[in-house]
Amino acid sequence: MTKTLISGARIIDGSGSPAFPGSVLIVNDRIQAVSRTPLAADDAQEVDAAGLVLAPGFIDVHAHSDLSILAEPEVVGKISQGITSELSGNCGLSAFPIRTAEVREHLEKLYRTYGVALTWSDFSSYADVVTAARPAINVGFLCGHNTLRANVFGYENTPGTSAGWERERDLLTEMLEQGALGFSTGLLYTPGKFAPPEELRIVASALRGFDAPYATHLRSEGDALIESLEEALAIARAGSGRLQVSHLKTAKPRNWHKLDAA
Ligand SMILES: [Zn+2]
Repeated sequence: MTKTLISGARIIDGSGSPAFPGSVLIVNDRIQAVSRTPLAADDAQEVDAAGLVLAPGFIDVHAHSDLSILAEPEVVGKISQGITSELSGNCGLSAFPIRTAEVREHLEKLYRTYGVALTWSDFSSYADVVTAARPAINVGFLCGHNTLRANVFGYENTPGTSAGWERERDLLTEMLEQGALGFSTGLLYTPGKFAPPEELRIVASALRGFDAPYATHLRSEGDALIESLEEALAIARAGSGRLQVSHLKTAKPRNWHKLDAA
């Protein structure tokens, strides 16, 4: 049995209540006691945390660590910020599925700086590679629309066809069944920007059966901010009803007034 006693910290417990001074006793990797009065444990390793803040690990819901988690599984950049869980596959870009040579070539080029071989074809084989890398934090992944769409229509400027949109939906369903946690879009980027709203409602309908979220980098964060938000809401309603707007902001002074309405 290993015991660790952390004393003297300002504790922020994540419940929303104000910080308080106290001690935390950890036994075998589990929190056994959180106390406002000093705790004693003779056989514990003691950590003096005076002047420091003690909090549960932060969850980063907007990560892009799809390949870096394999190149640097120690994740020092996140750990040193207190982040212990993160969600990648945002803004329409995920490292899976890879079902065509074109998508493989595109992603290999995009991710070449990481020096990681893209050996997988779907979420389940990607997850095996991530698990084998033993990341130092908890990781989850959204399935990105840009990758999904490229598997069906390539990176061309085309609205696509309803048969193709249904193939995207079925592919998303497959990835969700394999453990992907939701669906993301990046409608400012290629090829997501070529997708008509109808396509996205059809693809997002796969989320319904999984109660999985829709996360979006909006089509416009400036001149068409309100219209883009309306599009996002309609897509979320076609899915599970759960929506994450990835960067809620308004760009350019002429659009600043829109934030209240947004
Ligand atoms: Zn983004």
